[in-house]
Amino acid sequence: MRQVADLHCDVLSKMLRDDKVTLGPPNDGKLDVTLGRLRQGGIGLQVFAMWVPDELAKTPETLLRAAELFWSKVLTCEGMRLVRKPADVESVLSGTDPGLTGALLSLEGVNALQGQWWALRLLHRLGLRLLGPTWNHANWACDGVGEPRGGGLTKAGRQLVAECEKLGILIDVSHLSDRGFWDLADAASRPFFASHSNSRRLCDNPRNLTDDQIRALIAVDGLVGLTFVPYFVTVPGPATIDDVLRQVEHVCGLGGERHIAFGSDFDGIEVHVQGLSHPGEYPALAEALIRRYPEAWVKGWLSGNVRRFLTTNLRE
Ligand SMILES: [Zn+2]
Repeated sequence: MRQVADLHCDVLSKMLRDDKVTLGPPNDGKLDVTLGRLRQGGIGLQVFAMWVPDELAKTPETLLRAAELFWSKVLTCEGMRLVRKPADVESVLSGTDPGLTGALLSLEGVNALQGQWWALRLLHRLGLRLLGPTWNHANWACDGVGEPRGGGLTKAGRQLVAECEKLGILIDVSHLSDRGFWDLADAASRPFFASHSNSRRLCDNPRNLTDDQIRALIAVDGLVGLTFVPYFVTVPGPATIDDVLRQVEHVCGLGGERHIAFGSDFDGIEVHVQGLSHPGEYPALAEALIRRYPEAWVKGWLSGNVRRFLTTNLRE
């Protein structure tokens, strides 16, 4: 089975909402991403995002609760390994032990951080290595894609980028406003990536990336994490695996075959691409890709590009 790295899921948000939810039996029924399906799909690395649902307090305390859930309910599962540094990435993606799944902690939207740098430093100690400054709305750091005024990074947002670079946290541009994307490109001195966004040329949604943005991600040797959110894959739906392949083909056409990755957004969506509704179905995508593309490219998209990006850019 081919190994897979997935750049985004929302398991921790479901756990924040309902503390009975478990990654494995008995209470995994509400999850797309379960321990069994991670194994079934050959997921060698899964990124777990902390995103604070609207009904919960946007405070550092809520983020610490999410990080604690990551430690107590994800990392305690059999075969699950914390990924913080290049050696961790190698141990889960080199293929030497296919029974392992690496778990990497990310933050989607910094509103709950409230500009508290101590909380950022503490979360870093708890494993945080990837950070998207915004979700769809504006916050103290940046505007998201849903903010009509379309602002970019604030002064505090630029400081956030600098703090992340100092700590060794990589910046995720998914959900950033267009202005925010280009401000980030200007402010960043390290490679950045998109964890779960598609091509806007193919599917016109502000959550998707313009061709220029995709070229910028390629130019910094970043990643374009294509996502399985049906309404970011194609409109009108329903979306199919073939539609996902069209996204892949488009990024290849822009010269991005060494920068394509996947970020499913499982557990963050209510509807799914047909035949791609949980990590156990990744092999169906792999089979469709392998029918059309060289094996080496497909391996790169499924995990090799993520492996290279993380081993190059995470710190020992
Ligand atoms: Zn998202």
